[in-house]
Amino acid sequence: MEKIREGIYHVTIPLKGNPLKSINIYIFSSKGENMIVDTGFHTEEIIEETEKFIKELNLDLSKTRLFLTHLHSDHTGLAHYYDEKDVPIFMGEVDGRLCREMQNEFGWYWQGIGERALKQGLAEDELSIHDHPGFRFRPKVEFRYTPVNPGDKVDVGDFHFTVIDEEGHTPGMVGLYEEEKKILVCGDHILGKITPNITYWGDQFGDSLGVYLKNIEKIKDMPIDLLLSSHRYLIDDVPARIEELKGHHEFRLQQVREIIHREGEANIRTITKNLSWDISAKNWDEFPKSQKFFAAGEAQAHVEHLVALGQATREEDEEGIYIFRLTDLGEEIRKKNENAVPKH
Ligand SMILES: [Zn+2]
Repeated sequence: MEKIREGIYHVTIPLKGNPLKSINIYIFSSKGENMIVDTGFHTEEIIEETEKFIKELNLDLSKTRLFLTHLHSDHTGLAHYYDEKDVPIFMGEVDGRLCREMQNEFGWYWQGIGERALKQGLAEDELSIHDHPGFRFRPKVEFRYTPVNPGDKVDVGDFHFTVIDEEGHTPGMVGLYEEEKKILVCGDHILGKITPNITYWGDQFGDSLGVYLKNIEKIKDMPIDLLLSSHRYLIDDVPARIEELKGHHEFRLQQVREIIHREGEANIRTITKNLSWDISAKNWDEFPKSQKFFAAGEAQAHVEHLVALGQATREEDEEGIYIFRLTDLGEEIRKKNENAVPKH
């Protein structure tokens, strides 16, 4: 437990066995009102940690609300715990709806993930949604919440937050901006050290990487003294971190152009196998099945961005697998970036 500023507290909750290592929970307290942001996974250990900080801060839960930045289970896992205690919950409308759908094992959300894996050419990897960590840790207990949308106001005593659009990491992630105090609670939008995972959510959500890049650019123009991210350390130089994140994706996009150029045409599986991954597996066969979903999703987010930019085309072969080719524009940009995009 750390007091960051008057009325702002930070608790680091360990996420055992997860590469994210831990989640930062923030608590705002002002004039007898409190707000907790995000929850951690649904585990006994995290319930204990939660009870500990509630006691330590002497939080009156009847004067407390919970704000959920996005649907991922490390952020929403204990929502039902607060709901049982009648703590009002606020969550972005889009992610709230998705989060509900994710509870349905046989609904369109999980079916869509299975179908997508086939379109990505992953049939031979024999993935099952039971290998998908998002499925294993999916929210299983329903909770009541009030949906919020970008532009809505959330007041906690002297803190006057505006909900801001952070679509990208998830289709409906939202942040909280305190304009006067120049504080942004940003969820997984901008993280130190690790790159927020940007995945392909299906055609109905379109070019998620394009939306993400637009939405981090927007943050650069906002005056921010204190950026409160959900994982790892606090970032001092926000514009510099945004440039690093953009550079990371530019490098990734160039890697994808190079792979498609080399192969002539490629499906997502081929592109994913050939990308560099920060993982100890020596090759694709050794990739844990759970990671194959994430890797393919991340690869497709990048390829779909090239398609949206007119640098690649997407067609389906006779088995319904997506095949990507570079356009003349894509080829031109690949050449131009051959030495320009720094390796990292
Ligand atoms: Zn997340």
